[in-house]
Amino acid sequence: MSFDVASIRKDFPILGTRMRGKPLCYLDSAASAQKPQVVIDAISDFYSRHYANIHRGVYQLSADATRRYEEVRTRVARFIGAPDPREIVFVRNATEAINLVARSFGEAEIGKGDEIVLTAMEHHANIVPWQMLAERRGARLRVAEIHDDGTLDVSSLEGLLGPRTRLLAFAHVSNALGTLNPVREITAMARARGITTLVDGAQGVPHAKVDVSALGCDFYAFSGHKLFGPSGAGVLYGRLALLEAMPPFLGGGDMIERVSFKGTTYAPAPQRFEAGTPDIASVIGLGAAIDYLEGIGMERIQVYEQSLLAYATDQLAKVPGLRLVGTAREKAAVLSFVLEGVHPHDIGTVLDGEGIAIRAGHHCAQPLMERLGLPATARAPLAFYNTTDEIDRLVAALDKTRALFA
Ligand code: PMP
Repeated sequence: MSFDVASIRKDFPILGTRMRGKPLCYLDSAASAQKPQVVIDAISDFYSRHYANIHRGVYQLSADATRRYEEVRTRVARFIGAPDPREIVFVRNATEAINLVARSFGEAEIGKGDEIVLTAMEHHANIVPWQMLAERRGARLRVAEIHDDGTLDVSSLEGLLGPRTRLLAFAHVSNALGTLNPVREITAMARARGITTLVDGAQGVPHAKVDVSALGCDFYAFSGHKLFGPSGAGVLYGRLALLEAMPPFLGGGDMIERVSFKGTTYAPAPQRFEAGTPDIASVIGLGAAIDYLEGIGMERIQVYEQSLLAYATDQLAKVPGLRLVGTAREKAAVLSFVLEGVHPHDIGTVLDGEGIAIRAGHHCAQPLMERLGLPATARAPLAFYNTTDEIDRLVAALDKTRALFA
């Protein structure tokens, strides 16, 4: 079955707009993805006809809003292969999901002299919360090496897993390199040693079908806004037995069972971790995004993106002086590159003049940039609404950049 990208693009109103007088060429979906009309409509419809606070009202509007919100929990669970909807905690984004685990699981389970293992390709969101925890608890961070092509050195990682390792946290897919990590192999190594695993799935879920049960991880974190949903709603998946044993993260309304000045008892998971009024409409929008993606099929999205990646890799190789950063055999559709003699920010500026939106910088992965000996890269991730024509425009604009700076 062919992939009708022209018709898919019509689902995203912003893709029909112009930027600097040219059709917008959006190549920054790894930072945040664009939204299909069905997501925008679901939010508008919810505010127009169904809005009320959830879990509180005795009246029908609130009961209905609660049902819609909780239905999304069930859909998210199914979408990522979680056996039980109670394993889905709604948060703001991947960053908050990771901080929740660092605060809640971390404070309870990680103590002086314990070790937390990360990899050299992590986003700051999967470094800083662990660093803060390690400082508070007197624990130690250990960092697995990567190879020059951007693949993880799995044997370096295995060598770090020891009797003091309490947690192993790593990216499903690197946002700066595209590297797809061998999650099952890594979680199996950890499980054999009784080590808890957290997978940062911020760049995993948008590109392929994710099944957390098959991946074998204990926690999986992602952001709705990178999954073509609204900003403000993200997900922490946690194995139920772990979530049930974890103390609360934030305290307040909605997360309690009974409050008195003598003391408070807490609601069971996942409510225990959802203090206060959540971003209800964004959760509804995330549900619409998941329905939309399932309508297309994540497997088809993956096949299309991989063909786009192969095309883009070939075309970029023809640009003199361009070097791709991150050439792992197993990778998602992320193109990170440097161009000889041109600073990545200058590439971004010239491309902007052509209506092409890319990102230039350290991509919130400064330790990775240091490891690679680069101050920054230009990055063009591909989503299923991107086209070979857009890649041709990117290549032409890079040729223009070279001509300007050479
Ligand atoms: N992890 C990875 C791999 C990411 O790419 C990002 C976003 N760039 C994050 C975590 C953080 O996501 P958010 O800002 O939505 O919390």
